[in-house]
This record gives sequence, C-alpha cells and structure tokens, in this order.
Amino acid sequence: SAAFPDERERTLIAIKPDGVQRRLVGQIMQRFEQRGFKLVGLKMLQVSEDLLSQHYCELRTKPFYPSLLDYMSSGPVVVMVWEGHKVVQTSRTMVGHTNPAEAQAGTVRGDFSFHVSRNVVHASDSPEGAQREIQLWFQSKELLKWECCDQTITC
Ligand code: ADP
Ligand code: MG
Repeated sequence: SAAFPDERERTLIAIKPDGVQRRLVGQIMQRFEQRGFKLVGLKMLQVSEDLLSQHYCELRTKPFYPSLLDYMSSGPVVVMVWEGHKVVQTSRTMVGHTNPAEAQAGTVRGDFSFHVSRNVVHASDSPEGAQREIQLWFQSKELLKWECCDQTITC
C-alpha cells in the first residue's frame, strides 16, 4: 500500500546448529511472528560446504573462518525468509550484536547466547545482502506468496 511502499522487503534468517540443538527454533520463530513479519520460506537442512563458502565469502580471509564453517556444518540449520516493512534492519536489531557478550538483553543473542562462536542465529545485514542470500539458499518456487483469506485475521 502507499503507506508502506517497501512492505515487501525480505530478509534471510537462519537458526544455526546450536540453536536447533538447544531446542530454540520455536522461541526464535515466535519473535518474528509476534513482531508481525510474514513467513514466506522455511526449510531445515544440513548445509553443504559449497553453500557455506558462498554464504560467508566475505569472511574467507578471517582467522575464525575454518572454525565458522565447522560450526555451521555441525548439524542441521533452520532457514527462513521473512517479509515486511524494513524487515532487514528490524531483524538485525531483534537478533542483536554479533558478539553475544555485547548483545542487549531482549535480543535473540542477548537472551540465548554468550560467545561469538556460538551465536545461535544469522540475519542478513542489508537489503542487497538479503537478496543475494535468499537466492543462494532458496529456489524461487520455495518462496510462497500468500494473503489472509479470513477477513477476521489481520494480514
Ligand atoms: P553477523 O552474523 O552478526 O552478521 P559477521 O557477518 O561479522 O556477523 O560474522 C558472521 C559470523 O561469523 C558470526 O555470526 C559468527 O558466527 C562468526 N564470527 C564472527 N566473528 C567471529 C569471531 N571473532 N570469532 C568466531 N566467530 C566469529
Ligand atoms: Mg554478517
């Protein structure tokens, strides 16, 4: 609508292997639903090294890169695409600082983690980055367009 011209902005959120193993999937997804964002893609997978190296290509020269890839392939992840007004920026705020020791209470990382090497979630850092990551993780047919048919539900 005219009031929210960029309401279709999308971001990629992934619950990392530690989040899955610690049974945090439901609590994390609930935060995005209760904020009002729309879920348009969702799957669980064991991530290939090829996908991870593309996803984290900007970090390949960092000293922690090998351990990051080990961590991210240590078990399945749950990856999601959420849609809504300024969803990229708002999700980064909801997820909190990269280093959980610096993350505010009330953020996912601030509430559920304490170390940068096990920080529970991924969130795209810009609309351009989100578009790149969504194309990397999802086929277009896996992203579903839906509206609320029941008029008693706010969409
Ligand atoms: P973010 O996930 O907040 O966008 P980055 O893109 O900078 O952060 O880094 C990607 C991921 O790499 C982080 O979420 C974290 O899992 C890992 N990471 C970043 N910095 C470090 C570090 N100093 N030591 C270990 N792992 C790190
Ligand atoms: Mg990042």
